[in-house]
Amino acid sequence: MSPSKKETQITQLHGAGGELMGELLEWLILPRLDFAQDKNLGAIGLSALDDGATIALPEEAEGKLVLTTDSHVVQPIFFPGGDIGRLAAAGTINDLSVMGARPIALTLAAIIEEGFPFADLERIIDSFASAIEEVDVPVVCGDTKVMPAGDVDGILLNTTGLGIAKRAISDAGLRPGDRVLLTGTIGDHGMALLAAREEFNLSTTLESDVAPIWPMLAPLFESDEGESIHAMKDPTRGGLAAALNEMARKSTTCIEIVESAIPMRDPVRGLSELLGISPLEVANEGKAIVVVAPEAADETLRLLREHPLGADAAIVGIVTDEYPGRVILDTEVGGRRFLDMPLGDPVPRIC
Ligand code: MG
Repeated sequence: MSPSKKETQITQLHGAGGELMGELLEWLILPRLDFAQDKNLGAIGLSALDDGATIALPEEAEGKLVLTTDSHVVQPIFFPGGDIGRLAAAGTINDLSVMGARPIALTLAAIIEEGFPFADLERIIDSFASAIEEVDVPVVCGDTKVMPAGDVDGILLNTTGLGIAKRAISDAGLRPGDRVLLTGTIGDHGMALLAAREEFNLSTTLESDVAPIWPMLAPLFESDEGESIHAMKDPTRGGLAAALNEMARKSTTCIEIVESAIPMRDPVRGLSELLGISPLEVANEGKAIVVVAPEAADETLRLLREHPLGADAAIVGIVTDEYPGRVILDTEVGGRRFLDMPLGDPVPRIC
């Protein structure tokens, strides 16, 4: 049952647990998300609308369960290259992916402002659904709340993800001699969001890189019999600079990066120069830092480049013991400097 013509917006009753909420779930949410319910192998899934979900463990399951959660407050909710729905799916799937975990189940909770257009909600759920379809992972449970107008800005999403890792990969396993790889261009998401913000009034060709990266990373884990992948991380908030500093600190190693080797699109470089914001400090939503034993670097690069999302992958640096806990940048003008941990992401509400 779809709402009458007059009803084009969410009302507080749509989050109140009664008939109207049931209708909203039946016509807008469930049909968009139930494509993969059979992936849940007969367990109690989303469309059961029970108090909880059950998850049937895959028969071949071995290793560790990996659990992650993320809240998404991005502004604007629709941006070049994606929207809050795709971001919520990719953000959670990618955190599992860089732990070496195959996603097996997701949750989706929405906090929506009264007056939010149904049409926008449909677009967001469609976008979430198409992102999780790329990875073939079901949403097994969810929640909808509606807040009075003004109490929340449009829509916020929370997503929890459960995965299985044969061997969980931490972000702290770096060893001197390891090679540092990036799976693609840096700075796209943060700079696209900045360009899209009205206050800058800039029109550029920038697009967010938001994408679930499990399909690109999975072949690495299949071929990782020698356990040559030592560490991984997705450079989201705070960008590449924050992620590398965190990895160096946690492992008490030094990471040396060659600036000219970092893949970057020209419009990202151009806009960052114009705004005075480092592209190394803004979020990426479809990239990973992969640290591997030196003898595995070339094969890892080859595997990454085989997937379209990894077409621009590159070896960008090396792990040393020169300055434990620090990141060094070999700059394009021939100098060397520390790449410091940023105070925060220069772009608020980036994800
Ligand atoms: Mg992460």
